[in-house]
Amino acid sequence: MRSGSSQYRMLGQNVAAVNIIYIISVLFRGAVTPRAYDAIGAQLERIRKVMPCDAHLVPRAEQHGEIGTDFYHGGLAIPGYAGLHPARYVAGLAQAAERAGVTIIGGIRVTAIERQAAGFRVSAGRKQIQAKQVLLATNGYNGSLYPFLQRRIIPIRSAIIATEPLPSAVMSRLMPKRRMLAGSQRVVTYFRPSPDGTRIVFGGRVLKVTGEDVVETNAAHLRKQMLQVFPELADAGISHYWHGQTGFTFDKLPHLGQHEGVDYACGSTGPVSRVPAGSATRLPSACWGSKINRVPTKICPSAAVISITASPGFCPSPFSITRCVTAGTSGNAGPSASIG
Ligand SMILES: Cc1cc2nc3c(=O)[nH]c(=O)nc-3n(C[C@H](O)[C@H](O)[C@H](O)COP(=O)(O)OP(=O)(O)OC[C@H]3O[C@@H](n4cnc5c(N)ncnc54)[C@H](O)[C@@H]3O)c2cc1C
Repeated sequence: MRSGSSQYRMLGQNVAAVNIIYIISVLFRGAVTPRAYDAIGAQLERIRKVMPCDAHLVPRAEQHGEIGTDFYHGGLAIPGYAGLHPARYVAGLAQAAERAGVTIIGGIRVTAIERQAAGFRVSAGRKQIQAKQVLLATNGYNGSLYPFLQRRIIPIRSAIIATEPLPSAVMSRLMPKRRMLAGSQRVVTYFRPSPDGTRIVFGGRVLKVTGEDVVETNAAHLRKQMLQVFPELADAGISHYWHGQTGFTFDKLPHLGQHEGVDYACGSTGPVSRVPAGSATRLPSACWGSKINRVPTKICPSAAVISITASPGFCPSPFSITRCVTAGTSGNAGPSASIG
């Protein structure tokens, strides 16, 4: 947490370099019960201490200034959160890497990594390359590629729906301050206005991972949760759905480390996308770290607690849009489209 501001600075430098949509905002976390509101209140001092900021409670009677709903029993406003455009962020990072001389080869699945006398042999099907150093940043998509990580990173599916464009009066009523928003449930829901401010983008955990109806089922599940918060969206169509794998760890922290010479930076869940961008400066390997200003913070040894057998399989991109749904009240499928 303490290193958060420096990571935002780093993110900000990337942003300046690649023109990413990046908004410093406030996170409003709504309490789903009066008890949850009291629990958040009890943590307020600790939050302020760990992450110095003007975090403050918003009582239920005032919450319409933050979010147009009666679903929550008040909530917590935490300044200093950032909202970004994920696709532009990824594209921008790729451009920045290429400018620095990196060759990016996409669309290829690495199938094996073998240690050799001088480095590693990395196989991608029948293709093989020799590598002096290997960094695994496979997060929730590692699958069986590297059993050490498979036993430590729990793949959890998260998905997002986006509404069709809404009248600006509705957006202003439901999201008057264009906050980043979330609910206090343990299985969190997170939502925000789209970067252009015309749609509501609503996400959360989904359980269905296979089957022909995966898009419709998951989109309907998220839409039901969205309507709990914003009942007046009952007639609004859902134009987009997408999903991906996050990678949870048992201590809920991202893990940077090295195992048998292979570096890894994994375990990035929901609210810590800023961590991968900062990971490169923290890797333990002398090869990666010798010339850069390493931050001597958390390098986790990554204890395995249970054996995870579920394999998420390979997915080329966590933000690939599988297909567009026009759920609305009807639930019909539509053509592919992008929110960008
Ligand atoms: C629907 C959804 C919504 C989210 N919302 C938010 C949010 O609002 N805020 C937030 O901070 N975070 C959010 N996240 C989490 C965020 O996306 C992740 O924390 C972040 O992407 C992790 O970055 P990463 O580089 O560690 O891993 P990833 O972005 O998952 O990248 C891992 C890459 O490794 C590749 N890969 C895996 N195995 C192989 C292999 N064998 N060969 C080749 N390539 C391989 C994968 O294809 C993938 O491209 C969300 C995630 C999802 C799915």
